[in-house]
Amino acid sequence: MNVVVLVKQVPDTATRIKVSSGGVEIDPRGVNYVMNPYDEFAVEEALRVKELHGGQVTVLTVGGEKADEALRTALAMGADEAVRVSADAKDPLTTARAIASVVRELGPDLVIAGKQAVDDDQGQVGSLVAALLDWPQVTVVTELELSPEGGVAEREVEGGVEVVEFSLPAVLTAQKGLNEPRYASLPGIMKAKRKEIRQVAVDAAVTGEPVLRTTALHVPEERSAGIILRDMDAAALAKELVRLLHEEAKLI
Ligand SMILES: Cc1cc2nc3c(=O)[nH]c(=O)nc-3n(C[C@H](O)[C@H](O)[C@H](O)COP(=O)(O)OP(=O)(O)OC[C@H]3O[C@@H](n4cnc5c(N)ncnc54)[C@H](O)[C@@H]3O)c2cc1C
Repeated sequence: MNVVVLVKQVPDTATRIKVSSGGVEIDPRGVNYVMNPYDEFAVEEALRVKELHGGQVTVLTVGGEKADEALRTALAMGADEAVRVSADAKDPLTTARAIASVVRELGPDLVIAGKQAVDDDQGQVGSLVAALLDWPQVTVVTELELSPEGGVAEREVEGGVEVVEFSLPAVLTAQKGLNEPRYASLPGIMKAKRKEIRQVAVDAAVTGEPVLRTTALHVPEERSAGIILRDMDAAALAKELVRLLHEEAKLI
């Protein structure tokens, strides 16, 4: 069973994001980039599928040369092949069109994406790829069982679990809890450094025009410093707290 995993390189969630001077992008200086955490679940699941059913795992990203780092992380975990797609991707749809065109050529049984990328948080790419390929899709998957004909997936719903049957080929999006992603072994990391990353260019006729355009990007406003009440007995503390809530916070 051949699986393609869609991997995006994103800023580490611990990074303090600054907006660049143009006001629509983050300033990449000093940012530590990692593989999107939901894509780690996707890579792990693909490796488990391969261990159970044979076949191979190909990781694919749309991005610049730096995105090779995310591909190498996946190779170090155990993926067999890596493809970096150069394309004029400007929104989820153009990104998905580039991905779908390469997936068509690779012809896998299954595509697994993360349920969302933690930087742009659009949560669109997996579903758009499924729609462009006209394949069944199951989103926010937390459990997966496959047979050569199809699969059964559990997905998270409010307060419960939904069980869904689907045929192959299909696109799934991975939710936290699907598995426990493995750490890359030292030999795996060494091997991944030497592995060739296939480069594929997708031209503008395929990606087409974007349908979304980012017009502004804001970071949250700095929060004002809190007030700490000290050196008072309980009665005075309660009185002062009520005064502050009333006069300063205007809550009561
Ligand atoms: C080189 C490049 C330049 C871009 N420039 C701009 C720009 O100037 N302005 C702008 O608004 N947008 C730009 N984009 C698009 C934007 O950064 C996102 O990739 C796109 O909007 C997808 O939305 P998302 O990141 O929220 O993904 P989501 O839909 O939240 O991601 C869900 C899942 O889809 C997969 N996925 C998402 N993105 C990729 C990817 N690139 N490669 C492989 N798998 C992926 C992953 O599995 C991910 O977990 C650019 C993208 C690329 C690759």
